[in-house]
Amino acid sequence: MSFDLIVKGGRLPDGSRADIGISGQTIRAIEASIEAEAGRVIDAAGNLVTPPFVDPHFHMDATLSYGIPRINASGTLLEGIALWGELKPLLTHEAVKERALAYCDWAVSMGLLAIRTHVDTCDNRLLAVEALLEVKREVAHYIDMQLVAFPQDGFYRDPKARENTIRALDKGVDVVGGIPHFERTMEDGRRSVTELCEIAADRGLMVDMHCDETDDPLSRHIEQLAYEAQRLGLQGRVAGSHLTSMHSMDNYYVSKLLPLMAEAQVSAIPNPLINIVLQGRHDTYPKRRGLTRVPEMLTAGIRVGFGQDCVLDPWYSLGTADMLDVAFMGLHVAQMTSPADMRRCFDMVTAESAAIMGLADYGLEVGRKASLVVLDAGDPVEAIRLRAERLCVVAGGQVVAEREKRATRLNIDGRPSTVERRLRPEGRCP
Ligand SMILES: [Zn+2]
Repeated sequence: MSFDLIVKGGRLPDGSRADIGISGQTIRAIEASIEAEAGRVIDAAGNLVTPPFVDPHFHMDATLSYGIPRINASGTLLEGIALWGELKPLLTHEAVKERALAYCDWAVSMGLLAIRTHVDTCDNRLLAVEALLEVKREVAHYIDMQLVAFPQDGFYRDPKARENTIRALDKGVDVVGGIPHFERTMEDGRRSVTELCEIAADRGLMVDMHCDETDDPLSRHIEQLAYEAQRLGLQGRVAGSHLTSMHSMDNYYVSKLLPLMAEAQVSAIPNPLINIVLQGRHDTYPKRRGLTRVPEMLTAGIRVGFGQDCVLDPWYSLGTADMLDVAFMGLHVAQMTSPADMRRCFDMVTAESAAIMGLADYGLEVGRKASLVVLDAGDPVEAIRLRAERLCVVAGGQVVAEREKRATRLNIDGRPSTVERRLRPEGRCP
């Protein structure tokens, strides 16, 4: 037997060492040792080999627009939405596409090969929808992209949002979104959840709503979302993004809410980088963190995937497409510091988010799509600690990104000539 590509000697996320044999776009063998001909062999000895990073929540229509036409002075969600409203009339099809494709290059270099991006449907031109549908087609051979129809200005609050959101779905946008906490009243928010879930059920689509992205403990649209998921038979196909109000909710209410979410199989997508900067802006001190209750949701059996949300846009002035940054921040803010919890944070930017997106072909298993990342780390927790370099990225059997391992030279008498920040680098391992 021969392979197009063999990745040799890598350490898999479960700690085992294995060679991975790839032919065409598919993983054909995972064995302790593969001795066979190959078109190319990648030496991954001592390095972590994982399935690709997955971002279940992003805004690719806004990315890399930082500073256009100005920056967000207050740093709040609401000024971000207002600023996006100023930017929207200035968008061109070409500029949206160019920025999105540039971002996809960053993503590939970071081993981020699956992205669920919301796209604003509150625009009569549907300019960003058209542009991102083209981007999705153009990157399909290296990035799994899902588009969410997102009525940014409110499904009822913007008089044309309903019509334009449906037009976007007709054009092939994959998932139904919403923003109930931005509607004019709690009742409008509740109704928007119901109607949007009905649209998804009618069309056989998944749902992913920006839900309760506030510090208001009475913002409880997640309850309606879970109720509708059960009522309409959408179990396992609905996600609530952000859910930051849960941080501030009454504990008794949450003790009733979490089992409802678990029963309805509603997933949660917290976005730790963006919410640690956006939430708590109306507080003095103590200042709330605003991240939703991640460990409690995991204990309740709710699937959780961390999203990145924003990179260099009206809401967030940093970001590099590095899902390890997201896991790092999530780990800290959720205080998930036990070895098992830190490991879980890695799963929340890989396998758990792939499950939320419904990526059936994802994972390091024979017969699955041959997409993987070789990281300069010994295990998943070390990858988070180091925000480890991606030494090699394989997408559908093709090597799409590579870099040399870079060691810092040290010029100090009596000390080693290079610095190694891995705890047990290959060769020094006892
Ligand atoms: Zn978002």
